[in-house]
Amino acid sequence: AAVEGFDVEDVEGAIEAAGHGPLPVLAVVGRPNVGKSTLVNRIIGRREAVVEDKPGVTRDRVTYEAEWAGRRFKVVDTGGWEQDVLGIDASVAAQAEYAIEAADAVVFVVDAKVGATDTDEAVVRLLRKAGKPVVLCANKVDGPSGEADASYLWSLGLGEPHPVSALHGRGTGDMLDAVLEALPEAPAQSFGAAVGGPRRIALIGRPNVGKSSLLNKVAGEERVVVNEMAGTTRDPVDEMIELGGVTWKFVDTAGIRKRVHLQQGADYYASLRTAAAVEKAEVAVVLIDASENISVQDQRIVTMAVEAGRAMVIAYNKWDTLDEERRYYLEREIETELAQVAWAPRVNVSARTGRHMEKLVPAIETALAGWETRVPTGRLNAFLGELVAAHPHPVRGGKQPRILFGTQAGTKPPRFVLFASGFIEAGYRRFIERRLREEFGFEGTPIHISVRVRE
Ligand code: GDP
Ligand code: GDP
Repeated sequence: AAVEGFDVEDVEGAIEAAGHGPLPVLAVVGRPNVGKSTLVNRIIGRREAVVEDKPGVTRDRVTYEAEWAGRRFKVVDTGGWEQDVLGIDASVAAQAEYAIEAADAVVFVVDAKVGATDTDEAVVRLLRKAGKPVVLCANKVDGPSGEADASYLWSLGLGEPHPVSALHGRGTGDMLDAVLEALPEAPAQSFGAAVGGPRRIALIGRPNVGKSSLLNKVAGEERVVVNEMAGTTRDPVDEMIELGGVTWKFVDTAGIRKRVHLQQGADYYASLRTAAAVEKAEVAVVLIDASENISVQDQRIVTMAVEAGRAMVIAYNKWDTLDEERRYYLEREIETELAQVAWAPRVNVSARTGRHMEKLVPAIETALAGWETRVPTGRLNAFLGELVAAHPHPVRGGKQPRILFGTQAGTKPPRFVLFASGFIEAGYRRFIERRLREEFGFEGTPIHISVRVRE
């Protein structure tokens, strides 16, 4: 495509860069203090606070986008856990399990100065069982004298140990080259009905919103929810459930059914589990307890699904308990606290009474359809042309930036690239997004718009 004032290569490059669907996922696992978070910082090329200085403060962000040698992927950091929650082996195993499940490849970090410990060996067993590609990172090799330490790690049976100093950056480039070889171009799991197999749903929400009740209700049977004792590790289990005549895969339902009650670190485990489930899914059903005020935690969970680029439905549960007053305030809260996801289909349900359960599937289907929508370039530009003519960008410094051409570069979620003659302000970008939604729907899906400006 030729766009006035742009090189053909620029245009094609921009479209290709924006056109990716769901990205493959790299998990970084290992014992505490081996340098996982330091390494993740290196990989994502940011210095900002992934490493948390304050002990006891758990992070809720666990996935980051990264790029190496022109390839983009996601990184799941498992560095934020508290080691005294389950006991060291169980803790390392639990966090590694969540992360490995959701990953397409794994970087296993070992402290080369310490050598392989029993805990490391336990993670190796998990990695073998999972059968995902593994890159072994022998960390804390800050100089040539440490290389010998790294070579001892051949004994783990995971192939070549890559000597790395996450702290100083030594060896990380070579290791990332190996990561790219191990990582598939796209997530191993298929995304989309066309590829076959059931669509994948992540049922997410903070504790006690009714996830396990809802799962039991839709599965059409009452199951006993076992209170697992702390200290047991759990298997993420995907469950096939037939709804509305279609079989759906609910991902990581074991994490929902088993109620691991942890004193400390529970938030972090919950975040890691939610992030892992969202990565595995195509659509997130976010459950919110309508009987309580919408909380910061609810918002974080919503944000996680949006940032992961998944389709989304919001289900307000416990509707049976709402009186008129609560209903009034809930509507006000939704308007103020969840305005950024006003595009998500909404269902008001009760897992207890079964109210509106039949509305869940149509909402999920709507969201998936929005997620997969592709707008033909001709139609998009006809729309943009009219929009820009009727509502031009404000004049800035005597110039009026114009949108010259736009195209949808990808789906799942929809991604657009706009080519412009000058800088397009954030307010105008939001205006365009709003109008795109009004025109083309995109119900239940985040949309991405990137703007290329003519030099
Ligand atoms: P995590 O618990 O595995 O996430 O480990 P962190 O990333 O928090 O690192 C634990 C400690 O090891 C911190 O004090 C880091 O500064 C240090 N560290 C991490 N990577 C290296 C490295 O390559 N060389 C050295 N000397 N120290 C490192
Ligand atoms: P989870 O932690 O998100 O899996 O939540 P649970 O399914 O364990 O539910 C937490 C509590 O809320 C339990 O006591 C449920 O009986 C109750 N609950 C779940 N759904 C509903 C509902 O629709 N109405 C009412 N009244 N209570 C519910």
